[in-house]
Amino acid sequence: MGKRKTPKRPPFEFAGQQVEAGTRLSTSLELPGQSRYTPLSMPVHIVHGKKDGPTLFVSAAIHGDEIGGIEIIRQLLNQKVLNRLRGTLICVPVVNVYGFLNHTRYMPDRRDLNRSFPGSEHGSLASRVAHVFRTEIIDRADYGIDLHTGANHRTNYPHIRANMDDPESARLARAFNTAVIVNASLRDGSLRGYALEKNIPVLLYEAGEALRFEKNAVRAGVRGIMNVLGALEMIKRTVKRRPHVTVEAESSHWVRAKRSGLIRDAAELGQKVAAGDRLAHLSDMLGDEETEVLATREGVVIGRTNLPIANEGDALFHVAEFDNAEKAGKTVERFEASLEGLGEGDYIDPILGE
Ligand SMILES: [Zn+2]
Repeated sequence: MGKRKTPKRPPFEFAGQQVEAGTRLSTSLELPGQSRYTPLSMPVHIVHGKKDGPTLFVSAAIHGDEIGGIEIIRQLLNQKVLNRLRGTLICVPVVNVYGFLNHTRYMPDRRDLNRSFPGSEHGSLASRVAHVFRTEIIDRADYGIDLHTGANHRTNYPHIRANMDDPESARLARAFNTAVIVNASLRDGSLRGYALEKNIPVLLYEAGEALRFEKNAVRAGVRGIMNVLGALEMIKRTVKRRPHVTVEAESSHWVRAKRSGLIRDAAELGQKVAAGDRLAHLSDMLGDEETEVLATREGVVIGRTNLPIANEGDALFHVAEFDNAEKAGKTVERFEASLEGLGEGDYIDPILGE
């Protein structure tokens, strides 16, 4: 007697198209046009695995100038292991297409797309785009990863923001295995806030600077998504001992400029600091009125401004606080070492069997 054949996995229907099991589709979702009637669309790439499994979306540039995730998605989709994917992967490299074209975070109606969820079919432009993304992408998914960078002139140390009170979000945040996890409260109208309301765990990855591709931010991003695919059993990975490089922050705070001026010798990302440590020199143009920016609490620098011009009150350094800052500092060092020399083909260990 022959082996009973497992029935073929049904196709994934997307925007009026059928993606057969074991195939991919590059397509796009139509968006409201611009004032000159120029049509616009949101690019989408779907990998519909041969075998059953969860549906995960990976999105980037919901803030139009935060383009680092576009390169992460490009490298992710080149990973050969996706040919044996279980489940379905939906990649959206640019969510805010309008902002992307104009190199800006915002929508043309000056709204923040990531504060416009759940959106509405008949609302403002931002609200309509949020509606498209919600109904076509989020509502179809079991999990999500949303890729961000620092805002304009700010850079972030690779970290995950997640709701660590939700056990599945916490499990995936730890699996991602990037330097720092920040237990982040949800913002009104954000993609992540909406998804969690629907019980769809979404991780937010923050790394690098707006309008730049940064090597380590990209490396840690691709590796992290591969780790999550492994944790969801969407790809098979060997149980290889890999360095544990994640620490969970208790909270985080911004150190602000006490006066206006120019910044020199700014602390590096990933630097461990104690209360009272100097984070930067701050002075007037000729250096006559010289002061120092001091750390107020112990922690690790996970964000900083790259612009050496500061106005009084500007947020200059983002410092994450830990139970055990010593251990956090060591873990961060291990994280950096673990990224060294990582190439596009190095994210996956040899597959067992097959
Ligand atoms: Zn962002």
